[in-house]
Amino acid sequence: MIIVLKPDATKDDLKRIVERLESLGLKAHISKGKFRTIIGAVGDEAILQGEPLEVMPGVEKVLPILKPFKLVSREFKSEPTVIRVNGLKIGSKKVHVIAGPCAVENKEMIVEIAKYVKKAGATILRGGAFKPRTSPYSFQGLGVEGLKYLREAKRLTGMPVITEVMDPRDIEDVCEYADIVQIGARNMQNFRLLKEIGLTKMPVMLKRGLSATIQEWLMSAEYIVSQGNNNVILCERGIRTFETATRNTLDLSAIPVVKQLSHLPIFVDPSHGVGRWDLIEPMTMAAIAAGADGVMVEVHNQPEKALCDGPQALKPDRFLELMKAIKKIAKVVGRDL
Ligand code: PEP
Ligand code: MN
Repeated sequence: MIIVLKPDATKDDLKRIVERLESLGLKAHISKGKFRTIIGAVGDEAILQGEPLEVMPGVEKVLPILKPFKLVSREFKSEPTVIRVNGLKIGSKKVHVIAGPCAVENKEMIVEIAKYVKKAGATILRGGAFKPRTSPYSFQGLGVEGLKYLREAKRLTGMPVITEVMDPRDIEDVCEYADIVQIGARNMQNFRLLKEIGLTKMPVMLKRGLSATIQEWLMSAEYIVSQGNNNVILCERGIRTFETATRNTLDLSAIPVVKQLSHLPIFVDPSHGVGRWDLIEPMTMAAIAAGADGVMVEVHNQPEKALCDGPQALKPDRFLELMKAIKKIAKVVGRDL
């Protein structure tokens, strides 16, 4: 349920409405827009039947939210959400490029790649320390040691870092070292993990599940936001289809669909979307043309020796070419880089 307040509603009006909702066992999420305040009443809405909230002072109207996702919906908040990360504004006019290796393999490589991608224009460094691998015999990531190397790369370049958390038991460590935590495709519906991340205020990048519908994906975002953490960035990374020419099928239509349904920023990860370095540039261009707020690209200084996802990693010089292409397309669609 959305409770739209009158433009002249007072602080006391707001307080009384919130108290009323809470006494009914509902959570009140307040969204202060430019012109008026909206309260999202979340919980079992049946409780509100026969509750004449409309007559409370300060209330203009009470509307149902028809979608199953509430707080992340455009109905609840029409203006796009901008998430601040170390002085960067994610979801603003500027397109952000997250770049780095699939996994942090050692200190030297992450520092070298970080320096390179920063120079080329990337604004956020990626690198996995806890890796979700299909085989238990594959490299699983360096864990906390990897997080420390990311911090060192951040110290030397000034770039904020994003890294994945797979287990609620690692949240404390990951939040200590990361600026954005990533929830990977395989954990999109790990509801315990989503709730725990929701209890922090950390910016979160929530990747779309391997076979998730857009509605399921937004419901997962709702899990995080309903716990009080509004800092959610969505990331389209390809879905399973019958097609085998690419690792996944990058669903670029998800960008305008999500933009219609939700106020959250959306990124695209073409690397996992296609799984082939030679397709990264055209898919990145298409993603930005379709309205993505940024992209996340895997870059490795020696892809042929990478411990994880070498075939989709760009070499540094190709990343530089990609940045030039992004600059051109961003300008065409009225975005900055
Ligand atoms: C990753 O970004 O390193 C990753 C594992 O991606 P995904 O969860 O999308 O497969
Ligand atoms: Mn990867």
